[in-house]
Amino acid sequence: MDNLKGLTIKKFSEGLRDKEFSATEVTKSLFDYIDSKDKEIKAFLSLHKDDALARAGEVDAALASGEKLSSLAGVPIAIKDNMLIEGSIATGGSKILKDYKSSYDATVIAKLKENKAVFLGKTNLYEFAMGSSTENSAFQITRNPHDVSRVPGGSSGGSAAAVASDMAVAALGSDTGGSIREPASFCGVVGMKPTYGAVSRYGLMAMASSLDQIGPFGKTVEDAAILFKAIAGYDSKDATSFQTDYGDELTNPSLADIKNLTVGIPEEYFVEGLDKEVGEAIDKVIAEIKNLGLKVKPVSLPHTKYALSVYYIIMPAEVSTNLSRLDGIRYGTREAAKNLTDLYYEDKGAGFGPEVKRRIILGTFVLSAGYYEAYYAKAQKVRRLIKEDFENVFKSGVDVILTPVAPTPAFKIGEKTDNPLHMYLSDIFTIPLNLAGLPGISIPVKGRGAKLPIGFQLIGRPWREADILGLGQIYERA
Ligand code: GLN
Repeated sequence: MDNLKGLTIKKFSEGLRDKEFSATEVTKSLFDYIDSKDKEIKAFLSLHKDDALARAGEVDAALASGEKLSSLAGVPIAIKDNMLIEGSIATGGSKILKDYKSSYDATVIAKLKENKAVFLGKTNLYEFAMGSSTENSAFQITRNPHDVSRVPGGSSGGSAAAVASDMAVAALGSDTGGSIREPASFCGVVGMKPTYGAVSRYGLMAMASSLDQIGPFGKTVEDAAILFKAIAGYDSKDATSFQTDYGDELTNPSLADIKNLTVGIPEEYFVEGLDKEVGEAIDKVIAEIKNLGLKVKPVSLPHTKYALSVYYIIMPAEVSTNLSRLDGIRYGTREAAKNLTDLYYEDKGAGFGPEVKRRIILGTFVLSAGYYEAYYAKAQKVRRLIKEDFENVFKSGVDVILTPVAPTPAFKIGEKTDNPLHMYLSDIFTIPLNLAGLPGISIPVKGRGAKLPIGFQLIGRPWREADILGLGQIYERA
């Protein structure tokens, strides 16, 4: 099969319906392609060939018997390896879980199974999703399909690279501080972090529970919308999930639907450190959006400068408690230890990589008696101010906020591994949304030709994914 390039959910489901190909054919071709291509990209940690072909076969049989199927039926999807698929290994990118077999399906997986999607395999990530480049997985370094000397972004770099190189039609990632949007920007695909609570976190390995959200990667905004709609919704197994009725407006927007939106441009996001090329690319997008007839106006989010500091207190605090379950008893590898103390020291010492240890130590520190008030409690207060900044802008009549996704295009492999702070700065424009719980999407700036991709970010009001997906689809079509 030679039409894998640029194969979207939309084209796949039309081709399937028109009998241009079968789900089995596409799945087989994809695995052949992955077998050669992924030697270079290293996006996948495991392939689920038997399961995928069995699922594709079921879809073909259902079609032959005239069953009416969802637009995700048979669609080959890649899943970040921090989400559970029953019966298969889920490593979280960590040595400590290298043999961990999932005993149940994450809710997003169960929902995709209802839609008869096909799971190609699990994708690489920065260990436990803690980083922006996918270099520090315990297993391999994933490379950017646009330039293999560069990183794909992270932590969902495997999912982004798989979609960007046409090894998967779409993918799921998770985003705690930018891990869907930054790799989407670096790899030239679409990635969305939904409103906190829109998608169940059940079966997602928890990093920082008040920030984590699962979201879609697609080759188009429309595909991201289709996938998001399928995974969203209340789940009794995640107390922070919420039911919203996302109607057809997510996938079928018209210019009339979005023309009356007002777009805000926050001055705090166009400061020193922003790469000139990124700034120019965003200016082009702003001009195009004005051409569509939307109102664009400057806005201010004055507490933006504290977001990174707040994130690096709250996130590690939650990481340190969440990862304490990897104690070598319930989860984790267990080496022969003489006593309990040795068990803790030896397993975690050998099982966790340096970034994970750094965050556990930071988190334990900011939660410790004596420092809790000064760091953790203070950070929560500033988090509130950051959230109120956004609320004030939305109250002033702005519906969507437009910003860069990352300060630079994809950087070189090895460029930021020596200095964690440099790595942390890649997320300066994505982190505020996680702190405020808002939806945000990264969309490739059009017309960059052979140059490295750059994404722009649209931020919406809570539960208004329709606005950012709608505007994104109109921009994409225009
Ligand atoms: N890169 C950010 C971090 O290192 C965000 C990670 C994420 O969103 N999972 O924490």
